[in-house]
Amino acid sequence: MHQTNGCKIPVGVLGATGMVGQQYISLLNDHPWFEVRFAAASPRSAGKKYREAVAGRWHLTKTYTPEVGELIVEDANDVSRAAAAFKKGGCSFVFSALEMSKDETRALEEKYAAAGIPVISNASAHRWTPDVPVLIAEINPDHTDIIPAQKKARGWDRGFIVVKPNCSIQSYMKPVHALALAGYPAQRIIVTTMQAVSGAGYPGVPSLDMIDNIVPYIGGEEEKSEKEPLKIFGSIDKNVLKNADFPKISAHCNRVPVTDGHTACVSLEFAGKKPSCMEEVKSIWAAYKRLPQEQNFPTAPQQPIIYREEDNRPQPRKDRDADKAMAVVVGRLRPCNVFDIRFTALSHNTVRGAAGGGILNAELLKYKGYLS
Ligand code: NAP
Repeated sequence: MHQTNGCKIPVGVLGATGMVGQQYISLLNDHPWFEVRFAAASPRSAGKKYREAVAGRWHLTKTYTPEVGELIVEDANDVSRAAAAFKKGGCSFVFSALEMSKDETRALEEKYAAAGIPVISNASAHRWTPDVPVLIAEINPDHTDIIPAQKKARGWDRGFIVVKPNCSIQSYMKPVHALALAGYPAQRIIVTTMQAVSGAGYPGVPSLDMIDNIVPYIGGEEEKSEKEPLKIFGSIDKNVLKNADFPKISAHCNRVPVTDGHTACVSLEFAGKKPSCMEEVKSIWAAYKRLPQEQNFPTAPQQPIIYREEDNRPQPRKDRDADKAMAVVVGRLRPCNVFDIRFTALSHNTVRGAAGGGILNAELLKYKGYLS
């Protein structure tokens, strides 16, 4: 009923004019399952055609379709607009890439869900809501099982909320998860991140603070990096998500003058037995494929973890676009003098860490029957 072109599901993007919103629009250009039919942003953009709203601030090389360019941008705060579009078959669910206060975002995303519109969010507002899953499709796809309880607890018939985690942890969570699946869970991790400026949205950090410089502080980022993995590695217990106890993480998060691509230097101590050698770790990473392979999710990377043998890789400019910018690129694996192993990992923050990760979550939810 809510499909167009015979098969595509019509979707909306909240915050469609922003850094992450533009990635959603561009990645969904030729998506085989989803089609953008609704775009919303702040009252500043509302009422304009999409192409007018992003004129002079389109950040990507790939553009939007003529159809999206002609969409009238709605005020994201007015849920009735999306509800009306839903009724006309023009917005089956929304991707949320809003930059508002936590309280405002939390309340607004709940209004969409209450209006029967599922929300797949990039914002941090709901990451600590106990029955909202924080999804990395390859790591905790089973956390979607909490959705029926979430809907029931709030009396929502069709709507629900899922979120994705902070962009900086995406680069090293999969390597850590692959090792845990192989019987080598981490006990303690020390991670130093070098995070791209696009992670701060647009206009983001002033250029005079960034050129020829590193800023050793990103508000709230270290706390998110230390806590969110525990929810992702946790489990469903009595209709809430219970955190895992480990790994204990100490994070140093830095903003560096790179446009896209967050890099992380990781030192890891195993909880129990350790891999026999570095080659075993590499072969575990090479074999890591957790999504149902037969489903062929359009946005999933063929090789979720790519290992580079060169001493000087991964590098943001050379490696961030690997496998549709959805892979994690890892290198420099070696023994650690203090913990057990150390390595460097990289992922594209606005694709893998934001819009691409959100779209992959939507593909997983469709596969599981939560979206139609
Ligand atoms: P951004 O470039 O600043 O874009 C913000 C978007 O929110 C714009 O579309 C803006 O509309 C809209 N907006 C701002 N105030 C609003 C209001 N009062 N009412 C309705 N809409 C409003 O931010 P971003 O980097 O894309 O980030 C978007 C979200 O994704 C944030 O929650 C962020 O934490 C999260 N995230 C970002 C990244 C990243 O790498 N950048 C990664 C993961 C998660 P106008 O254009 O009309 O102002």
